[in-house]
Amino acid sequence: MRATGATATLPVLGQIKLHEDVSARLAGARILSATVRFERGRWFVSFTVEQDVQRPRATRPGDVIGIDLGIKTLAVLSDGTEIPNPRHLGAALRKVRRAARTVSRRQGPDRRTGQRPSNRWRRASARLGGLHARVADVRTDSIHKLTTNVARTYAAVVIEDLNVAGMVKNRRLARSVADASFGEIRRQLAYKIEWHGGTLVVADRWFASSKTCSECGAVRAKLTLSERTYVCDVCAMTMDRDVNAALNLAQYGRNQLRIAASGAEIENGRGADRKTGPARQVAVKRQPGTAPAGQTGTVPSQDGTAA
Ligand SMILES: [Zn+2]
Repeated sequence: MRATGATATLPVLGQIKLHEDVSARLAGARILSATVRFERGRWFVSFTVEQDVQRPRATRPGDVIGIDLGIKTLAVLSDGTEIPNPRHLGAALRKVRRAARTVSRRQGPDRRTGQRPSNRWRRASARLGGLHARVADVRTDSIHKLTTNVARTYAAVVIEDLNVAGMVKNRRLARSVADASFGEIRRQLAYKIEWHGGTLVVADRWFASSKTCSECGAVRAKLTLSERTYVCDVCAMTMDRDVNAALNLAQYGRNQLRIAASGAEIENGRGADRKTGPARQVAVKRQPGTAPAGQTGTVPSQDGTAA
């Protein structure tokens, strides 16, 4: 098995042309196996490789960043950076809804009556599947960019345990998409932050990141989703709602890390772990500065290389 430039040589198949030049990504890698699959009208080949990977330490090891994940925007960081939802997503979602309506007008299969789907239904639903896939690809790409940038920059990152804001009230589509992204962002942050020797702090699910004033610490009794600006009842501080929440998360993280540094056990959210499972892996694992310098070693790549 070999893969150089934009060609790969596989057993039985022989030499195949790839869409992408893999030289840079597979430099110094030993290919262990290749998996070929056909998906949404395209062929993909992914390689499992053995490769020495050098991952630099986070560039701003002293800073703690809080991330407020949202629905309107993908994320807002406590330094005020707003990461918008991917461009064109709105247009793509409109196309999805249109295609879904078309499918529903066609004669689909019915298990009860034994009705077979019409060819027009098959075509329409293949188109809908493709559009769904396109939306998913665009989201995946922007989520990877977000988590990579954050993990490369900050040694301490704080996020919420659950997307509480998203669960409160939203239209079904937006909500499910946001929920799925939230879990994926958290999963990616967990492993990428570990690559760069940082720490991911997951805030207690009861931590009122949105309702708390990041200036004086007062907690508002009520904050509706439509209030995009936080105005403090006590100190009159006025700030963008999401930036305020992100600042509170950053502060929460600093406190937790201080407790951890003093040797106390970090409490991780009243049994929240039991339900969410992988949460255990993202609880504070190590304190900044105690991780081994540079992550050198043989790491089997999990990222496939698409043809
Ligand atoms: Zn205040």
